This record gives sequence, structure tokens and C-alpha cells, in this order.
Amino acid sequence: MCGIIAYSGHQAALPILRAGLRRLEYRGYDSAGITLLARSRLQTWRAAGKLDQLESRLPEKNAAKCGMGHTRWATHGAATDENAHPHLSPDGGIAIIHNGIIENAMSLRAALTAEGAVFASDTDSEVLAHLVAQCPADSLLESVRQALTRVHGTFGLVVMDAARPGELVAARNGSPVIIGVGEREMFITSDANAVISHTREVVHLEDGELAALDARGFTLSTMDSAVTSRAPITLDHDAESLSRGGYAHYMLKEIMEQPEALARTLGGRLDRRFNTAHLGGLNLGPRELLDIRRIKILGCGSAYYAGIAGANLVESVARLPATAEPAAEFRYRNPLIEADTLYIVVSQSGETFDTLAALREIRRKGGRVIGVCNVVGSSIAREVEGGIYMHAGPEVSVASTKAFSSMLGCFMLLALQLGRVRDVSPQQGGEMIAALEALPSLVDTALGESDAIAVLAAKYSGIRNAFYIGRTDAFPVALEGAQKLKEISYIHAEAYPASELKHGPLALVDPETPTMVVLPDNNLLPKSLSSLQEIRARKGPVIAVTNADHPEIHALADDVITSPPCHPLLHPLVMGIGLQLFAYHMAVRMGRDVDQPRNLAKSVTVE
Ligand code: GLU
Repeated sequence: MCGIIAYSGHQAALPILRAGLRRLEYRGYDSAGITLLARSRLQTWRAAGKLDQLESRLPEKNAAKCGMGHTRWATHGAATDENAHPHLSPDGGIAIIHNGIIENAMSLRAALTAEGAVFASDTDSEVLAHLVAQCPADSLLESVRQALTRVHGTFGLVVMDAARPGELVAARNGSPVIIGVGEREMFITSDANAVISHTREVVHLEDGELAALDARGFTLSTMDSAVTSRAPITLDHDAESLSRGGYAHYMLKEIMEQPEALARTLGGRLDRRFNTAHLGGLNLGPRELLDIRRIKILGCGSAYYAGIAGANLVESVARLPATAEPAAEFRYRNPLIEADTLYIVVSQSGETFDTLAALREIRRKGGRVIGVCNVVGSSIAREVEGGIYMHAGPEVSVASTKAFSSMLGCFMLLALQLGRVRDVSPQQGGEMIAALEALPSLVDTALGESDAIAVLAAKYSGIRNAFYIGRTDAFPVALEGAQKLKEISYIHAEAYPASELKHGPLALVDPETPTMVVLPDNNLLPKSLSSLQEIRARKGPVIAVTNADHPEIHALADDVITSPPCHPLLHPLVMGIGLQLFAYHMAVRMGRDVDQPRNLAKSVTVE
């Protein structure tokens, strides 16, 4: 969500900022802008809409070696040219870009207006430029620090001063800011992917920290002026892994990459000697694992659905009570925090605001929290006591696919490790390991259905509504399948436990509303076949997603998406692949912007 890229160095800034903004595009945005600083003059270009709109206004060339760019995801004020960042102080001497929300912007605006200030935008962010300009000090850093004492809210921001060429000041509170450390050049970004083609050495700012930098280096300090320091970490992926690699969309590339992504998630974590999983980052010994009485998983969107699947896995394998809940709901209901519960926060980006806030609430109350994250060094990864990195590789498409699967992979490992300090025997553990070792190739087989599913999408691409149903461990598969269809094709899709169908939604089943029925090969199959019958009796089309070889399925369903037979532990993951492909091919058929669906952002860093 919304992006920051800033540069100070020995090269021309404009091409670096342009390329950086392109790298940030995937996060979702509605307008963009750039400010360059040369010969003590700030020059700013802004445009509502996609980056091409901005590009058409930018000069071909510009000699400036310092500048900053922003992709905005509007919170205060419409997506217009005037509201796009950067914003300037009234005299044009200070420019700022800002991610987040200034919560007291209304009262600050009123106070500044009473003093005669005139605002050029409707944004909350513009007050920051006014405030910094009103706080003259010996350094830009000090001006920003003073200005921020008057501000409440969340921010990741960068400030430039026309009078101080080559200098950039950044600050963070609740919205990521990362410094990229190069050779005679420095970068600031909200997403390391925007600088990875220049440097893999990065430093994450902490909340309440400020950075002052120029081409030669950077200093860190707190709001109380205490100097802090931190060595850069090295990112574990390169620019190559961010390319589309010949695929029409990042989403398709990421769907197809799942066998390798899962191999990385599982890599080095299966312990054949003791038939268990070994998750070194948990920071929990066997005694502590044994003391856990309950598991609570928190996430948002697909991460929450992965959490439901994860809770089912942990409960069925380790026989520990486990539940999942949307992170924001959890934190706002003044939850009871228990000492013997293990709380697990799940977020691909590790920056999801609501999930981060839930994590902090649990820690404040003394609870033990671990994380399941993909982005190394992200806020959640740094604030938890231990965790599991997904190692799925960068996920660019807004709609999550490989990260979702990798989350499930992490939960399988956790279920095994928790199970092996409880009832799971060495022999059962060995069977689970064998199942997990087969996972990448099973997913590969499931992916082999892509062409057949594309044909199916052609048949159904005119629909306006769809139901997705499944029982117990198939229910999160239905939830995530419906979510994918909604997100990228904009078709209204609802998921229900199959057992709930007749308690309400069946009223809406008609010949225009297909139902995807997720039918794993297990003892509930006969029950699910009854649901299928009930839909058929109302003339509702049925698409069965199944790994069971049952004649009744083919007799009753209009169409079938087949999934390879596998260990029950793997059902939710392997059976979900066909639904990812279905949503993808539907969106392509309907001409949708697959990788950047409307209204959505990749990582939701605001509340
Ligand atoms: N609240 C600011 C605005 O609406 C920043 C939004 C963003 O994070 O992009 O302009």
C-alpha cells in the first residue's frame, strides 16, 4: 500500500525514481508524484491515475542527483493531481512524501489556517510540509523532529529542503521505512523491492526513529535525539526474482512457482532422524512446546484463511485446541490473553497494520507471540519472539497465491513439531514427513490442470455470483477460492461451510449461480454429496473440486476440477491450487487488471 522511493547519490535521480515507482506499482495506488532537487530548487510533478499519467508529464532528462517519488493510496481527499504527493510548504522550500494517516490533521489544519496558511490539497499529509517549514533549526533533521512532536498518527515519511541539496530526512511511526545502502549513494523506500536492483544492504527504521542521510551515509536517532545505530542486513533475494519471467502476469508466475516456493518452505526443516519438523526460529524448546495448552492464530484476508486451515491442522495433528480470528477483530475486543496459549500472527509482508497492532496488544498483556511471515526483517518479523519464515520468495501480485500456500506449509511443519512432543508417534511422524516431501510434486500435478481450467473459465466467465462450499478442512479452501475470484474478477463470490448451505444461502441458488463444491476424499464425502444433490435439485450448476474417484461426483457435477490424491494433511493446500487457477483464468477472460485489482493494495499498512 502506497510507496516511497528517495535517492541521494552520484547518479541522475530521475531514472532511479521512475524505476523505483514501477517496482512499487504492485502494491496498489491511485496517484503518484516526483520531486527533484537541483541548484537549490525543488521541482515537482504529480498526476492522478497510473504511472503512465505521471510519466507523460516528466521531463526526458534532469540533472538532479537527489529526489523522491511517491505512489499514493488515498485516505484523506480524492485521488486528484493536487492531492498526489509530494506536498510542499507554502514557500515551496520543503517537500514531503508521506505514507500513513495524520490523525490530528484536522485540528492542525484549522490552527494553521487561523494563522493565515493556505492549503493546496485536501490531504492530511500536507500539514507536515507546513509544520516542518514552521520549525527552523540548525538542521533539517531537527526541523522534522520538532514538527513531529505536534503530530499524532502513523507515518513513514521523507522530507527534502531546497536549501540543503543532497540531504534527505526520513521518519517512521507505524509505516515501514527502509534505507538502502549503496556505494556513494543512498536510498529510502517503504519496500525493499524498490531498491534491490541497486543494493541488497538495507536498514529498517524502528518506530519513533528518524534518519538523516546524504550520498555518503546515514545517521539514525530517536525522537528524543538519542543516536542509534544498526548494521545493515543483506536481502536474501535479487532483482531477477522480481521479474515476470515470461509470464503474462505475476499472478500466473507465482501460481506456477508454488512447487519451488514450497520446497523452500520445507527445505531443511524435516528431520528424518526423529520424524519431526525442526523450526529453529520458533525459539521454543520441547518443554515449552509441551506447556502450550492452546493455539490462537491471527491474520487478515488470505492470511486469516490460512490461519483457519492452520488451526485445523494443528488441532487434528497435535490435538491442541486451535482457532483463528481476524487480527483487527481480536485486538478491538479487549481479548483475554493466556500465559499457556501460543499466539501466531500471520502476514506475507510482515507489515499488515492490523496484525502488527494485534501482536503489540498481545505482547503488552504478556502473551507469547510467534510470527509466520515472508518478508525478512519486516516489522512483524522483528517484533515477535520467534517465528517461521515462509521463504516463498517475493510475491508481487496483489492477490496472494504462493504465499498462501507457503503459510499452509508452515502450519503443516508446526503441526508436526507440536504433534511430535505429544501424541504423534515416530511412525505417524514419518508418514507425515513422506507426505510433506511429496508436496511440491503434487502441487506440480495440480498445476497441470491449468489448460483444462482455462476452458472451464471460458464457459463460466459470464456469471455474476458464485458460491464456494466445503466441510471442515475444505472450508478454508472454499473461503480462499471465493476470495481469489472476488479480488481479481470482481465476481460476487461467497464461501460457506457446506453444512450451512441449507440454513440460508440455498435460497439464492438458481441456474445462473454456480457452486464450487470442494470434495476431498475423506469420510465426509457422502455428506458433501448430499449438499451437491440439494444444489442440483434447485437447478444450480455445480463445479466439483475433488481428489476422490467417486462415480457420483461425475454423475452429479456439471464440471470437475481434479486434484491429485494425497495425504489428508495436504488436502487444503493441494485442492486450493485449482481454485487459484480458476480465478486467474476467469479474470483474464474478463479482461481484468489481474496483478493490480481495483481498490486493493498488496500490504495493508493502514488501519
Ligand atoms: N494519508 C495520506 C493521503 O491520503 C497518505 C496516503 C498514503 O499512505 O498513500 O494522502
